[in-house]
Order: sequence, then C-alpha cells, then structure tokens
Amino acid sequence: MSDLYPYLGALLVLGTMAATWAARLGHASRHQAPTATVFTAHEPGTRWLACHATRCAHMTTRHRPTADGAWTCTGCGTTTGGEA
Ligand SMILES: [Zn+2]
Repeated sequence: MSDLYPYLGALLVLGTMAATWAARLGHASRHQAPTATVFTAHEPGTRWLACHATRCAHMTTRHRPTADGAWTCTGCGTTTGGEA
C-alpha cells in the first residue's frame, strides 16, 4: 500500500490543478462581460494642473478658478497660483 502514496499525491496535485484551472476559466469568462463606458462632463472653467499637496502626490488634478485668479484643487482643496 505504501507504494501507492506517490501516485496518490500526484493525483491530488493534478486534481487541485484541474480545479483551480476550471475556477480561473469561470472567473475569466465573467470578466469578459461588456461594461458601459461612463463619460462625465467637465465643470466649466476648470483646468488640469499639477497639485503638489501630499494627498494628491504631484498628480495632475482638476482645479477650479478662484475670484483672485488662483486655482483650487478639486482633489484636496489646496489653492495654488495659476502657473502651477
Ligand atoms: Zn490636490
């Protein structure tokens, strides 16, 4: 009986591989469902500027103009000059 242990182990490994492969196939087919692309309108007057605040991490975010000519980041609320 002990001679069969390596074969039983191999069968267990192959069975596990087959099960994970089938699960992966099912997972992949679910992800192929078409998804609608969502378009959003820009706020009028906003500009894409680099925000150097820690929260935005120097990424380019939308900025709203302020009354005194500066720009307020829509991501974190930091106000910077227009040349940023
Ligand atoms: Zn920001």
